Amino acid sequence: MAAGKDGGPVLVVGAGPVGMTAALTLRAAGLPVLVLEAGARDRVRPGSRALFVHRRSLRLLERARPGLGTRIAAYGTTWRTRRTLYRGREVFAQTFPRASGDGATDLPAFTSLRQVDTERFLHEACTEAGVEFRFDAEVHEVRTDGDGVTVTDRAGESWTAGHVIAADGARSGVREALGIPLEGARSDGYHVVVDVADPPGGDLPVERVFHYEHPGTGGRTVLRVPFTGGFQIDLQCRADDPPESFGTEKALRRWLPRLVGEDCAHRVLWVSRYHFLRKVAASFADPSGRVLLAGEAAHLFPPFRARGMNSGIADAVAAAEAVSAACSEPSRGPATVAGYASARRSAALYNSEAAGAALDHLRPRPWKRATQRAAAALSPVVPRCGEWLEHAPYGPRGGPARGY
Ligand SMILES: Cc1cc2nc3c(=O)[nH]c(=O)nc-3n(C[C@H](O)[C@H](O)[C@H](O)COP(=O)(O)OP(=O)(O)OC[C@H]3O[C@@H](n4cnc5c(N)ncnc54)[C@H](O)[C@@H]3O)c2cc1C
Repeated sequence: MAAGKDGGPVLVVGAGPVGMTAALTLRAAGLPVLVLEAGARDRVRPGSRALFVHRRSLRLLERARPGLGTRIAAYGTTWRTRRTLYRGREVFAQTFPRASGDGATDLPAFTSLRQVDTERFLHEACTEAGVEFRFDAEVHEVRTDGDGVTVTDRAGESWTAGHVIAADGARSGVREALGIPLEGARSDGYHVVVDVADPPGGDLPVERVFHYEHPGTGGRTVLRVPFTGGFQIDLQCRADDPPESFGTEKALRRWLPRLVGEDCAHRVLWVSRYHFLRKVAASFADPSGRVLLAGEAAHLFPPFRARGMNSGIADAVAAAEAVSAACSEPSRGPATVAGYASARRSAALYNSEAAGAALDHLRPRPWKRATQRAAAALSPVVPRCGEWLEHAPYGPRGGPARGY
């Protein structure tokens, strides 16, 4: 199979989960790959961030590098119990049977681990697969023509390739250099996300808990998600909450113990504040069909139902397959890349719409809040009301059929 331009490597910009997945998929197709990364080699990216890795992503990773999906699943946590509470009262609970493998591959329906751990597994797999990395290389110029693409970093060094997969995240320098706008909106208010380590020798229940209008936070909604070694608390603040009321370390010392116990302060691993963004790039490829955008370089979604990283992994695989097909049959390259851009942009638009439905539930208008309240009151006698309260915060399920 032909390699990139003049036998050189395909370039991937960004060594986040999406860039590394693209690199592994390109290597699986026999192509040489160079990943250009702005950060330093020894950087540590903190925090749980994208916790859920869905089975579909595990399968894609397993295909790109046999053993990788299994390793990630074995390290992560798959909880079997999920509960929903409304103002301190349980309205829904479900525990799944233990066997969660899918038979064919024994990969679980999902696994939960901190993004920093997922990235560690990906980086190890890339190294084993012969992916080359160039750190301290922040790309800020991109020139394309019919033959290829040249990218230049801030130090003035340039690289030329037949194709570039841009996986350089939310503030993508490649997207900016190409002048491709992100279209969409940012929601009011912010979320505070906190990672708390499990207590030493502690035996906490491994369950996901969604709590509407938690009494310990003045009625703000809280999600608690376990991961290997601890759990993540996601507090949804109101549009008019000033950051100092919940989002600072001092504020955290006030409200976190009410949720997880007095002894938690020294177990806090990471705190971050973020706004919900719902944005999709106007195009997922440049007009010459040489640069493909993937992951957060191409779209930003609120995290509920874990659309961000999981759909980014799907982008990465699709982009790498398109580049690989374009290298095999150069005359069809532009059409193949256009097919990628169109398919993954429609998937992103679907995800954005689904995330919008989740947001409408999470930031309810008065009539929706009244419906939620009524459903909570009815849930002891009408179980479907509890089920609705459990499912609605994540929006509609986006399966592979809808291009997730
Ligand atoms: C505070 C926070 C909380 C989050 N919580 C969740 C969550 O709960 N659930 C969820 O699903 N998702 C969550 N996310 C989003 C999740 O982290 C992203 O979906 C995921 O990281 C996207 O992966 P990516 O590879 O596309 O981009 P990134 O992980 O951002 O990786 C991009 C890489 O490109 C590098 N880079 C950037 N610019 C350049 C350049 N010009 N040249 C070269 N390299 C460059 C960066 O250094 C980085 O290594 C959260 C994100 C944040 C910040």
